[in-house]
Amino acid sequence: MGKTERKSGKISTKAVHVASKVPFSVTRPKVPPIFTTSVFTFDYLDQVDEVYEGKAKGYVYSRMSNPGVNLVEEAVASLENGEEAVAFSSGMAAIVSAILARVRAGDHIVASSVIYGGTYSFLRDEIPLRGVNVTFVDTNDLAAVKAAMRPETRILYCETISNPLMEVADLEGLSEIAHRHGAYLYVDNTFASPALCRPLEYGADVVLHSGTKYLNGHSDVTMGLAIIGQGSTGGTSAAELKTLASRIRSLASTYGSVPSPFDSWLLLRGIRTLPLRMERHSENAIKLASFLEAHPSVTAVYYPGLETSPYHHLAKKYLDGGFGGMLSFEVKGGLDGARKVIDSLRMAELVPSLAGVATTVSHPGKTSHRSIPLAEREKLGVGDGLIRVSVGIEDYEDIEKDFREALATL
Ligand SMILES: *Cc1c(COP(=O)(O)O)cnc(C)c1O
Repeated sequence: MGKTERKSGKISTKAVHVASKVPFSVTRPKVPPIFTTSVFTFDYLDQVDEVYEGKAKGYVYSRMSNPGVNLVEEAVASLENGEEAVAFSSGMAAIVSAILARVRAGDHIVASSVIYGGTYSFLRDEIPLRGVNVTFVDTNDLAAVKAAMRPETRILYCETISNPLMEVADLEGLSEIAHRHGAYLYVDNTFASPALCRPLEYGADVVLHSGTKYLNGHSDVTMGLAIIGQGSTGGTSAAELKTLASRIRSLASTYGSVPSPFDSWLLLRGIRTLPLRMERHSENAIKLASFLEAHPSVTAVYYPGLETSPYHHLAKKYLDGGFGGMLSFEVKGGLDGARKVIDSLRMAELVPSLAGVATTVSHPGKTSHRSIPLAEREKLGVGDGLIRVSVGIEDYEDIEKDFREALATL
């Protein structure tokens, strides 16, 4: 159907209408195109009712939904074994909306004290302005988590693998505590990715992603996702989670924090190689972690794949097919030592993000933990000699050579 083409009008008419033509073909493109349209056309007036009432499937307006965005949501929901995913313009937009969808004034949140800086700022500075209280606890200490829970606690929040010391959360233990108190377990699964861990399978109710990181993997997209699902333990009822999912979706549209069609298309492209990339990231990271652990200028290595890691048993239980590409290590000589190593690296660039195909390093003391005084940071294990590595998928020999030569300058 559609209007008769306006091929015969004057130049202004042709410029508008001929240049907007959508080609027709009985064959379909092999891969989904980029749906760069802000709005969709109706063929006749009553079709508006049919679409709004759900009698006909149709898109209306891209802030509400877009076919390319829906494709990414379906892909990530499927990888995480979730019921539904909602895509956002960034990981922070996904995290903020998923939290706001669940709490109101008078409610309470229990969160891990070691979480992504943006999430920490939101929970410490923003959400209290809406009358929601937050208690930060060491989520590795299940007794402390239990003690922090209150009748009005709605969310227990943690990350599968935390930054920058790569602690692995006891997801089953945490979900059991959350559900016993009528709270939902929210898990930021950015560092593990669904290729290694699917927290819904261990009782999480909501999984969050910075799609900017491993899901995309090529350092060229900013996006986020919230995935809602009952998982296999089924702590929270399917009906409750359905309500939560539609509230999260409606907040994405109300706040307008939706991703662009182009970013969604790039993310979908990145996802196709996620398991393959995670396999190589993990293979390279365990080798680099072992190399660093044996190096005389390195005083500590934080990687859950190492048998010496206090989180190795949890990593073996919850991570499947590798221990991920993120590790941190402490060099001798504090800030001077870290500066010397970072500035001497010839392949690995200094990048305050992670999870791309290229090996990169960052300095948590100068970035994510910058606002915390050194003495306090040292107590947390984030001293000035700490270097975080996002191990890439290059040939391992070249990665090791880069670090070996940089460490030799100490
Ligand atoms: C990067 C990151 C975020 C925030 O995601 P953005 O896409 O930058 O908004 C949240 N959590 C973790 C663990 C991250 O690494």
